[in-house]
Amino acid sequence: MKYKRILLKLSGEALMGDKQYGIDASRLDKYVQDIKKVHEQNIEIAIVIGGGNIFRGVQAESSGIDRVQGDYMGMLATVINAMALQSALEKAGLFTRLMSGIKIEEVCEPFIKRRAVRHLEKGRIVIFGAGIGNPYFTTDSTASLRAIEVEADVVLKGTRVDGVYTADPEKNPDAVRYTNLSFQEAYEKGLNIMDMTAFTLCQENNLPIIVFDMNKEGNFYRIVKGEDVGTLIS
Ligand code: UDP
Repeated sequence: MKYKRILLKLSGEALMGDKQYGIDASRLDKYVQDIKKVHEQNIEIAIVIGGGNIFRGVQAESSGIDRVQGDYMGMLATVINAMALQSALEKAGLFTRLMSGIKIEEVCEPFIKRRAVRHLEKGRIVIFGAGIGNPYFTTDSTASLRAIEVEADVVLKGTRVDGVYTADPEKNPDAVRYTNLSFQEAYEKGLNIMDMTAFTLCQENNLPIIVFDMNKEGNFYRIVKGEDVGTLIS
């Protein structure tokens, strides 16, 4: 196996499956099976999940809700997703811990770096909910920051496309997938990999990112094994 400790970032939207809102149970189960397969290889897995399937802070402004309030609503949305994922993982027999960026004592532990690392060492899957606990950030930034804090080897960004392309592959049939990119190249070409805060954190801390299609069964496993899947930015 190429990696020992990884951070998997899943967007909230990915959990919707074919639905327009909320969580699709069959999609969630597929992710759980993929995660289980990787976990069986003794890989330490941390997960950050987004909230876009339920609520995004920027949406709030258009409906007259204060941005900061909206961002906290978005963070709570990520906790709902994280709880659904935790429950599905436990149903599959995996041990998990949910750690939150906002204190929600009845539901999960607060994020404490040393505890998170200890959970990982014990083979528990650690889900980081509520983002970093501050407004004006995203769950991509959370993924970068938490990966650096727990010293993960790589951030695996699971999306609906199988990597980073020269152009939007859904609009341009000539678009070509990059297999490898340096951070500098990605920046100069203006490729949209993560928001700038998240991207810069990875670059400054030499934390590689792999963008890949999480919906393709077995992809997650292939990456951890070191196969050429998706786009590696390093
Ligand atoms: N959010 C935040 N701070 C964080 C992480 C998330 O304020 O550290 C809020 C923000 O409003 C964001 C929402 O939570 O829009 C949901 O997260 P995100 O949009 O990153 O989810 P995804 O697009 O991955 O589903």
